[in-house]
Amino acid sequence: MLMSADRLRNVKVSASAAMTDKARELRAQGIGIISLSSGEPDFPTPLHAIEAAHKAALAGDTKYPPQPGTPALRAAIQRKFKRDNNLDYAIGEILVANGGKQIIFNALLATCNPGDEVIIPSPGWITYADIAYLAEATPIPVPCPENNGFKLRPEDIEAAITPRTKWLILNFPNNPTGAACTRDEMRAIAEVLLRHPHVLILTDDIYEHLTYDGFKFCTLAEVEPALRDRVLTVNGVSKAYAMTGWRVGYCGGPKSLIDVMNNVHGQATGGITTVSQAAAVAVLDGPQDLLKERATIYQARRDLVVELLNAIPGITCHKPEGAFYVYPNIASCIGKTTAGGRAIETDTDFVSALLEEAHVAAVPGSAYGMSPHFRISYATDIDSLKEGCLRIAQLCAGLS
Ligand code: PLP
Repeated sequence: MLMSADRLRNVKVSASAAMTDKARELRAQGIGIISLSSGEPDFPTPLHAIEAAHKAALAGDTKYPPQPGTPALRAAIQRKFKRDNNLDYAIGEILVANGGKQIIFNALLATCNPGDEVIIPSPGWITYADIAYLAEATPIPVPCPENNGFKLRPEDIEAAITPRTKWLILNFPNNPTGAACTRDEMRAIAEVLLRHPHVLILTDDIYEHLTYDGFKFCTLAEVEPALRDRVLTVNGVSKAYAMTGWRVGYCGGPKSLIDVMNNVHGQATGGITTVSQAAAVAVLDGPQDLLKERATIYQARRDLVVELLNAIPGITCHKPEGAFYVYPNIASCIGKTTAGGRAIETDTDFVSALLEEAHVAAVPGSAYGMSPHFRISYATDIDSLKEGCLRIAQLCAGLS
């Protein structure tokens, strides 16, 4: 009999991956599913990335990679941090891993001891808590209230910090709410952190380039340089350049931290695929116009989805500043029954009914730590979004 390790006890299967799998299953049965569950850009990877990977493979760049990343990619990341964030990182302060996800894994595994606390935004990306559990640390949720635009309040961070706090994780724009952080708001968070020098801060900037209506992205190490040596600035090419399958994430941080993360990294993977690194150099150094072009398209989709959802009796939907998610509130649907006879006691019930009766895949708020909500990804075409919202409206119209 297989006995899994205790550290896996609290680690859940990703709800969005589970929902995407379920939708795929139903689709294979011939059911027309509208999939709004996947946190993945629907755009293609830029051609110049594919060409660079092809060229690298043909040139024989197919051997074991340098463990922390190729010199070419680390130099391209160094230029990116300077260009976009006004951050100066030495090459030895940069690490490349298999997605932003593995950067976070390396960071927590390399630094946490049993009993250490990792403060995570709630609602927030469930991976943070799961990786904290794998590192035998304790995730401590800090609320991002809906009536505060799903943003963190400095006083809540202050209250969550204890002598055992090892990390605070910041994620703006946020998955699942899309909330972003202004410079003034970041400054207020920095003020708290300056008072607690034992706390390391991981800023997950993966949605950096997805902000709307002229919203200006900022990152903590740039806003408060005095914190630079306690901040790990995390990013990647997945969301910005539609390169989720290439598995390239990266970070900048103090060398002592990068060195121990590289130690974990080396035993977990030995470095990342060489051709993916060539592709990442091409997008980081290549033309950046596609970022704005795609953000304009996402903004139009966000506006449409927010408008359509807010027109549905039973649903209210905050309009977020960034990412490609909305996180509608369905409090008014709880306690009702669908036309198909399903009792809606929780947001998981709502999302199950949505899939089974309306054939729309979404993710329940319970997966992100705040209910009753559900997450919709609008990284899909306008027609699917219109049809998805119509079906959600039909499900809600049938509630009694
Ligand atoms: N951070 C957040 C908030 C995410 O939503 C994701 C992906 O969904 C990632 C990081 C990791 O992306 P990747 O591992 O593809 O770089």
